[in-house]
Amino acid sequence: MTTGYDVIVLGTGGMGSAAAYHLARRGRRVLGLDRYGPAHALGSSHGGSRVYRQSYFEDPAYVPLLLRAWDLWHELGRDCFVRTGGLYVGAPAGAAFGGSLRSAEEWGLPHEVLGPTEVARRFPTFALRPDELALYEERAGYARPEATVTAHLALAAAAGAELRFGEPALSWTAGPGGVTVRTGTGTYSAGALVLSPGAWAPELAGVPVPMVVERQVMHWVAPTGPIDPWLEHPVYICGDGREQVYGFPATDGPAGGVKVSFFRAGEPTTPATVDRTVRPAEAAELRARAREVFPGLDGPTVRSTVCFYTTTPDEHFVLGRHPEHDNVVVACGFSGHGFKFAPVVGEILADLALDGATRHPIALFDPLRVPAPPVS
Ligand SMILES: Cc1cc2nc3c(=O)[nH]c(=O)nc-3n(C[C@H](O)[C@H](O)[C@H](O)COP(=O)(O)OP(=O)(O)OC[C@H]3O[C@@H](n4cnc5c(N)ncnc54)[C@H](O)[C@@H]3O)c2cc1C
Repeated sequence: MTTGYDVIVLGTGGMGSAAAYHLARRGRRVLGLDRYGPAHALGSSHGGSRVYRQSYFEDPAYVPLLLRAWDLWHELGRDCFVRTGGLYVGAPAGAAFGGSLRSAEEWGLPHEVLGPTEVARRFPTFALRPDELALYEERAGYARPEATVTAHLALAAAAGAELRFGEPALSWTAGPGGVTVRTGTGTYSAGALVLSPGAWAPELAGVPVPMVVERQVMHWVAPTGPIDPWLEHPVYICGDGREQVYGFPATDGPAGGVKVSFFRAGEPTTPATVDRTVRPAEAAELRARAREVFPGLDGPTVRSTVCFYTTTPDEHFVLGRHPEHDNVVVACGFSGHGFKFAPVVGEILADLALDGATRHPIALFDPLRVPAPPVS
């Protein structure tokens, strides 16, 4: 048994690496454990880019967290975060446009509403339908997930955290005297435990909110014309429901293609049984939809890869104190939209693990709620 830690962080991916950093920078003795190597491609935090936006269509309650995350992203720097502006397109009453407008208006966020003609003039890659509108905001961009996890882990280690990779936790227990985590090579004890195991949460977290692990595919497609319009391009969400796509500028230059993917087209899976091979039909379906939004995005698929969402019925996070243990904190169920929050989630997890409370508004993410499906 190895003792003497203040906090063990179980899972050092997007959220756990941020938690390890925020705990260590507060002078606490931190042990971070991960089943794989640092910043790996077998969980939910890989694929080069993640959308960050502020006019949040999912719920205006996310906005204060996004504003704090904005500051923290800028502290992490340009290796981790790139500002591009964001465009959210759809039917006036739909989620992508209407929900974004609701958040922008409720929080007084700077934004512009654009019709199809104005979008075509300012952002010529897009082809809106005549009945669609777009909300443009300057305070949007993309995070680089691998660079962010690497940076948070390096900052955590520099502040004294001990990080152990390739060491899966087999079980954990908690009681009034502290927490214990058992791995294949050792048993570790601490005052508190942060559970941030991503797609392994359904088997490890022990919270009542149901979570479904979903297989999601990211695609990179080559444009038919010059790459130039794609180099200076906003991040975007286009459409609603099953046809909703999101994407990025050409973050890896001319040879890398342009990443565009369906937002909500996952199929249930588990980390142990997932099919990591992308089927030709999946790439073809995505390209057909991408062509509707971007007539010039019609070259070959450059690559595709699989990733996990861990989705709750209401698509809101599970973030708070564990329902059964005061000294355990859970961060899971990020439902395919958590990465943009990673720095502020790290701060919240450190608050909860050390003080039992946080100044940040997290009532929406209560691990004891009974979630209802989102209204789309
Ligand atoms: C295709 C795709 C696109 C996305 N796009 C966006 C986007 O544009 N914007 C956005 O904000 N979000 C986006 N997301 C969501 C976001 O990436 C996730 O919400 C976020 O990465 C989740 O981080 P995590 O820390 O929960 O999981 P992970 O980063 O997967 O970390 C969990 C870690 O726990 C470790 N672990 C698991 N079990 C154990 C164990 N027993 N012992 C030790 N370690 C363990 C794993 O190895 C892993 O490193 C997207 C997700 C996907 C899949």
